Amino acid sequence: MAFLCDTCGKELTVNEGTLSWCDDENCIREFRITHKHDQDHSCDEKDVGYVHLWIVTGISGFVKFNEILADYWAKGYTLKDPGGLKKALSQIGAYIWEKSKNQP
Ligand SMILES: [Zn+2]
Repeated sequence: MAFLCDTCGKELTVNEGTLSWCDDENCIREFRITHKHDQDHSCDEKDVGYVHLWIVTGISGFVKFNEILADYWAKGYTLKDPGGLKKALSQIGAYIWEKSKNQP
């Protein structure tokens, strides 16, 4: 199962992509699944956070990503675009579901 790049629209494999976001001004936003070179955020590059797709689609990586989010909430960050995060989570969830179905 392939992912679709939020920037160029082309398919990417789990080994090619990242889940990235902007982290500045006490908010997180612009959650995107893209090729690594297509992250293309509006904020400064140093304020871009990302995880590799092959990591975040594994159980421990997915749990780790939730811990990262929990740390943002604990620091009082707000989520500017829930739609972007939900769209990314939905692609990741579908991938994990497909992968778990195909296991013997
Ligand atoms: Zn792309």
